[in-house]
Amino acid sequence: MTVATNPAYAGPNPKDYGLPDERELAAWIARSGYFPAFSPPTAASSSQTPAAYSPAVVPKAFPAAPLYTPELPVAPSASAATAGIPRVGEVSLSKIRADFPILAERVEGKQLVWLDNAATTQRPRQVIDRLVHYYEHENSNVHRGAHTLAARSTDAYEAAREKIARFLGAPGKDNIVFVRGTTEGINLVAQSFVKPNLQPGDEIILTVAEHHANIVPWQLIAEETGAVLRVAPVDDTGQIILPEYTRLFNKRTRFASFAQVSNALGTILPVEELIAIAHRFGVPTLVDGAQSVSHIPVNVTALDADFFVFSGHKIFGPTGIGAVYGKKALLEAAKPYQGGGNMIADVTFERTQYHEAPEKFEAGTGNIADAVGLGAAIDYVTSLGLPHTARYEHELLAYGTKELLKIPGLRLIGTATQKASVLSFILDGHSVEDVGQHLARAGIAVRAGHHCAQPILRRFGLEATVRPSLAFYNLPEEIDALAQALRQLTH
Ligand code: PLP
Repeated sequence: MTVATNPAYAGPNPKDYGLPDERELAAWIARSGYFPAFSPPTAASSSQTPAAYSPAVVPKAFPAAPLYTPELPVAPSASAATAGIPRVGEVSLSKIRADFPILAERVEGKQLVWLDNAATTQRPRQVIDRLVHYYEHENSNVHRGAHTLAARSTDAYEAAREKIARFLGAPGKDNIVFVRGTTEGINLVAQSFVKPNLQPGDEIILTVAEHHANIVPWQLIAEETGAVLRVAPVDDTGQIILPEYTRLFNKRTRFASFAQVSNALGTILPVEELIAIAHRFGVPTLVDGAQSVSHIPVNVTALDADFFVFSGHKIFGPTGIGAVYGKKALLEAAKPYQGGGNMIADVTFERTQYHEAPEKFEAGTGNIADAVGLGAAIDYVTSLGLPHTARYEHELLAYGTKELLKIPGLRLIGTATQKASVLSFILDGHSVEDVGQHLARAGIAVRAGHHCAQPILRRFGLEATVRPSLAFYNLPEEIDALAQALRQLTH
């Protein structure tokens, strides 16, 4: 298997493919609003101060209203308590936090501060109760047996599929395949859809910002088929370099796969453009939505996404459940890569006839209860309103960025103008492990390590970072606690 990196590769002439040349592309990017003009920070303190958090850079899907005005604090801090309890839309944070029993937990003799949301989110009472209800009143295998509980569990399972379809803006529930999570979803697409079409020398495009789950499945099929991986680079802020990505496409390109949000840096990639560019070359794509689905309103139809995958546990749902969205024609064209019960229409020893998608990809008994729980999580997020939660999180991220940059010797890794949730950093004179342990002793849960994304950290000359990551139930006070604990270390 060969991994080709971009710089040495001249690539095709964009004009041959009806694409804009570099100058036109730059104008196109500017028009897209993803890369707003950089306005130098006013705080003299740091060249890292992101210009990101000005109203001009609200992602396109977010409400048009300014997130905050620079004269006001971006979010009330503990010391500015007079500003009152923050709200997500109409709902107060105290009410939201009361929905999450684990947030009241004490660890190390301290109040838990959960800032490890990129690894997994916590579950609201509504999801926990739904699981209990399922096991107490509905538990049965689905699609089998003509008895009452089979009907109840099938209804609940299919209702969850419907909710996911609506949440993602999919045409219908048949576009949604249940899987264990993002990792299994990417493997499914790689094995079922991409591998059967690969010839030696064919190419798959990834970005350097990918989680290992969006690298290794492609390496596996590249090794088997003689295909080649090509890797789009990022700039020093952690944002993909669109002209470089574009240059990777050629007549051998068969597929492109990229995250919507980088789990290590928090960069929001301009997936709409990435998909559009791939489609100009006739190349289908997969969007890894593991880190975006709980932070950014997603509409797969508007994005023209071919495949979109996510994990339930990153969006306040259970572990061991997730979904693949696929365009109907592509799901129909794909071969099942696991065989067994539930996915067949008829079996003889000579040949098997499969059900249509999505059942074709759901061999064996699925994770029924957790699929139902994921449906409840989606109900919960929908009831708060993603535009509201996204807006609140954006303010919190801006506040966190501002506070962390005040810590002497702290360097933020990932300073793109478009970010969600993640504040990756290193601290001069302190190992990542030491910082993680120090924070854990203060009751603050963050991830300290390589975040299953070694290539992107190595792009920044690092093997590990400390990674606090936010969700809508986090408070400015929790940012203050983080900053205070870090200050203790630096003193
Ligand atoms: N992709 C991204 C961007 C992730 O952040 C993660 C998990 O952190 C994954 C894929 C894998 O998700 P899972 O372990 O739920 O399959």
